[in-house]
Amino acid sequence: MASARLLFQWLIDLVYPPRCALCGDLDVPLCAACRAEIDATPLDPHARRLAPLSGSATSGAHDGLLRDAIHKLKYDNARTLAEPLGDRLAELYHRSHWTVDMIVPVPLHTSRFQERGYNQSQLIGERMVRRVHHPCVPSALIRRRSTPSQVGRSRSERQLNMQDAFHADAALVAGRRILLIDDVQTSGATLQESARALLNVGAAAVYAMTVTAARL
Ligand SMILES: [Zn+2]
Repeated sequence: MASARLLFQWLIDLVYPPRCALCGDLDVPLCAACRAEIDATPLDPHARRLAPLSGSATSGAHDGLLRDAIHKLKYDNARTLAEPLGDRLAELYHRSHWTVDMIVPVPLHTSRFQERGYNQSQLIGERMVRRVHHPCVPSALIRRRSTPSQVGRSRSERQLNMQDAFHADAALVAGRRILLIDDVQTSGATLQESARALLNVGAAAVYAMTVTAARL
């Protein structure tokens, strides 16, 4: 069975060889040069006060290489990109002086998850575990309903749009300090609503980190 699967994968690779998600170079999902370029993109931490979060930080602005990497990770199935982005957030965490007990990725709604096949924020959070040494617990927070696109909405419309969108599992989070992970922060409404759901069931504190923050 295993050898049949390997043969099948070999044939797939022969017909559709992997290409670097960022530059298109053949034979690797992410080439060494592109990986090095992401690693060399300096951390540009920005903190924002987003009540009821105890802290929120982002690793850089939503443009250039980081924006491309997030876009390919989300829409082009380039899951390998979760590795450098997860390592980046782990570094940001170590610089933050925050203390948490677990990592919780911002969930996608089930229908979006099924369509994409994975949650990019979960992949980033799972990668972070290597360097942060706290568990990544995706089941701690679920998305109850799909939220219409936030694009073009005012701040109050965005907040209304997100209300009650999330449900947290008290058994997993009560008394725990949580680090929420997402790819992009726009208004911050998603992080705030996620934090409210976690605090409502007894989380001790909620912090958030995103790879980038979009200017509004
Ligand atoms: Zn490349």
